[in-house]
Amino acid sequence: MQLTLRREHTTNGRKARKHSAMNQNTNTATLETLKAEETRLAQVKAALKEAQSLAKWEAETRAINPQYVFGSVRKPTAEDEAALGHSHGRVCSIRCLSCGEERTVNLQDAKQVVYCKFCKKDADKAKSKTKRASKRLAGKSVADIQAEIEAAQKQLEALQGKVA
Ligand SMILES: [Zn+2]
Repeated sequence: MQLTLRREHTTNGRKARKHSAMNQNTNTATLETLKAEETRLAQVKAALKEAQSLAKWEAETRAINPQYVFGSVRKPTAEDEAALGHSHGRVCSIRCLSCGEERTVNLQDAKQVVYCKFCKKDADKAKSKTKRASKRLAGKSVADIQAEIEAAQKQLEALQGKVA
């Protein structure tokens, strides 16, 4: 290209200068188009990267918490904000393990929340009941309790014998 231009310049200065200016315009236009396309490419690449990282996050979250609802990551709606009382960035949904209702949670809670608010209360109650029972029964054997049953039974029979 440069070689051709130089030759034209020497053979016919005026024509070559004109040609060169036209070329300059074409090159500028081409450069602008290239730059614009480059910007678009960067935007598409950024969107792709974000989508890939979201897909990875979703797969990881679902593997840890099967109650996570795929494709539920979103900017909080007014309803979401009302449900959360507050929100930091994006939110998502989990499907309650007990009743199947969807619950809005912050992204950072998606891996551990498995119940809706109502079922969570029930689950907590059941959990503390189990905890109390395990504390109460700690160190006791079935034989111990059977012995207690037997002793109480004897007392009961004795009382019933007196009454009868
Ligand atoms: Zn529920």
